[in-house]
Amino acid sequence: MKYGGNTSCIEVQAGEHTFVMDAGTGIRNFSKVILERDVRKTYLLLTHTHWDHINGFPFFIPAYDPKRSITIRAGHLKHQGGVQNVLSTQMHNPMFPVPLEAMQANLSFEDFEAGEDFKLFDDVQIRTTPLNHPNGATAYRVEHKGKSVVYVTDTEHIPGKPDQNILALIEGADMVIYDCTYTEDEFPEKIGWGHSTWNEGMRLCQAANVKKHAIFHHDPEHTDDFMDAMSEEVTKAWSGNFICRENMEIILD
Ligand SMILES: [Zn+2]
Ligand SMILES: [Zn+2]
Repeated sequence: MKYGGNTSCIEVQAGEHTFVMDAGTGIRNFSKVILERDVRKTYLLLTHTHWDHINGFPFFIPAYDPKRSITIRAGHLKHQGGVQNVLSTQMHNPMFPVPLEAMQANLSFEDFEAGEDFKLFDDVQIRTTPLNHPNGATAYRVEHKGKSVVYVTDTEHIPGKPDQNILALIEGADMVIYDCTYTEDEFPEKIGWGHSTWNEGMRLCQAANVKKHAIFHHDPEHTDDFMDAMSEEVTKAWSGNFICRENMEIILD
């Protein structure tokens, strides 16, 4: 209730541009923001297509509006049928009554290979890297006018072996949003589930001179009391740590 029950969806504002990373259930409320601000052209960057990262997509209202254009990109499906196919399957009868074709916005679906870099807008650069997750996932580094934020979820670490791809991607970033689903106590029971811990996120951030570590992708079994206690613990461990809450807004200046 206090930290938020919706699944992954991050808004990024860079200058006059707004775009989204992941389409978990959080994107339903975010739809209203896009309509209010009348954002006509936007991007949706998907880390991967597990349910908790795409379940909100059928409720992304701007996608039904012919005045808007949305480019959807994913880095893990180029050789596995592509992202359009996966999103269309999710909206297929009898799982969902409204098909993807009902979305009247100018949609374009683009598959790339995690590790490739690209430009979203003239002044927004993206770098990517593959993550260690069942069925694959992609991390995104966003750069705009000397500021950078890196979105690193979902990923599993190997204890004692920092992920070199992640270290290279997050080097010197202003903020890293990292998959902290489990505690170190819970982690050994969940090897192979594809998630990490805040302790590993902090180690990576400190090793790569990152300023802020946003603790993200909370386990739904973690209650508000549990998260309150964790919040105290992480702040004591390092002043750069903080726990993400729904609707939290971070300004990098
Ligand atoms: Zn996943
Ligand atoms: Zn996830």
